[in-house]
Formats: sequence, C-alpha cells, structure tokens
Amino acid sequence: MTYQHQYSNGTPIDLPLGKVVCIGRNYAEHARELNNPVPTEPLLFIKPATAVTPLTAPVHLPKGRGAVHYETEIALLIGAPLSGVVSLAEASAAIAGVGLALDLTLRELQDQLKANGHPWERAKAFDGACPLSTFLPIESAPALDNIALQLHINGELRQDGKSADMITPIISLLQHIAGIFTLLPGDVVLTGTPAGVGVLQAGDRLQLSIPGLLQQSAHIRPD
Ligand code: ZN
Repeated sequence: MTYQHQYSNGTPIDLPLGKVVCIGRNYAEHARELNNPVPTEPLLFIKPATAVTPLTAPVHLPKGRGAVHYETEIALLIGAPLSGVVSLAEASAAIAGVGLALDLTLRELQDQLKANGHPWERAKAFDGACPLSTFLPIESAPALDNIALQLHINGELRQDGKSADMITPIISLLQHIAGIFTLLPGDVVLTGTPAGVGVLQAGDRLQLSIPGLLQQSAHIRPD
C-alpha cells in the first residue's frame, strides 16, 4: 500500500515522504534489557523511505531471516528544514506532528551485525521495516516532555513508556541530528523505544496508542 503522511483525522499532509532518522537506546531500561551499554551520545541510524508503510496495512514479516522484534516509538514529522546549528526554538518550530511507529528489527541478524561491527541496515532498513501511524497536529499533541506511549498485543500491555524517560529529550535530539544529517520537510524522526520489546508472531493484533489522543491498530499478516 502506498504511504502518504496523514493527520489523525484522515486529512493528507502535503509533505513528501523522506528519510526516517532513528535513535537507538534512548531509554535506559530498554538498553539494559538487551544488555547494551547506555550510550554517551545519541546512537543514530537511518531507514529509507522504502521501509515506510501505513501502520493500518497488514504487516509482512520477512521470511527465513529469524525473529522480528517490535519496538514502539514516538515519531516526529518534520515540517521545516533543520541543518547545522539550530536553536531550541527552531527545532521546536520544525515539528509538524507527533505520531507512533514500529521500528521493526530482525533481532538475530542485528546481533550478528553488531558482533561483527557491521552496519545495522540489513536488520532495520528492509522494505516494510517502518510502519507509521497518522500524526497528531503539533497544536493538539501533548507537551514534548510529557508524551505517553503504549503497545498492546492481542489485548495484553507489552510496552508502556513516556517521553520524560528519554535519555536525550526530543528537542535536544533534533538539535543533535541536525548537526549530522539535514532534516527536510517530510522526514520522520523515531525517538527510541521503551522497555518491553519482543518477538512478533503471524496473526498478532497490535494496538499502539498515545493514551487518550491517538490510537491505531496493526495486524501482522497470518502466514
Ligand atoms: Zn528502535
């Protein structure tokens, strides 16, 4: 299914889909659950636009490449260019919307890549690796340091986090990223996952939410 940025009321957003800049290990408890050290500066990687699908489309798990993990993350839609040294006000004004994403990860493959010191793209940038929700317009989103996120799978709460627990908070994260990669209107930033990641199974039904504000279902395609 083709992807187009949309507001949560279904209105299409007139921004092209660009790259997705992701941060790893931005919640200390999640870093610990995978026995990873907590980084001293944000750990960044990129998913290409071809990884993005609408969260509401059936999710295809890659076959024969080992376990696929879910990571539920707060997604920021970028509405203005950010490059180089940017002020707090510029970074804050560049956020057009707040949504949710799944950073799908081939965990066994990622473990092998990490062990060999290789890049993570094979494990995280494959087609369909970034199901994205619709976006709350920034005016209707909670304060950036007070966003809650939850994932239920088949009715059971699996991830329950809040942006207040991020190691690098949202605005500092955008300032850091802009110093490394230019962010363009239509790009998306994923801000890391709280603890509780795990394996997806064919047929799973997922509910991602910013409680009270944004709720979206996703369905893992049955085999
Ligand atoms: Zn992630």
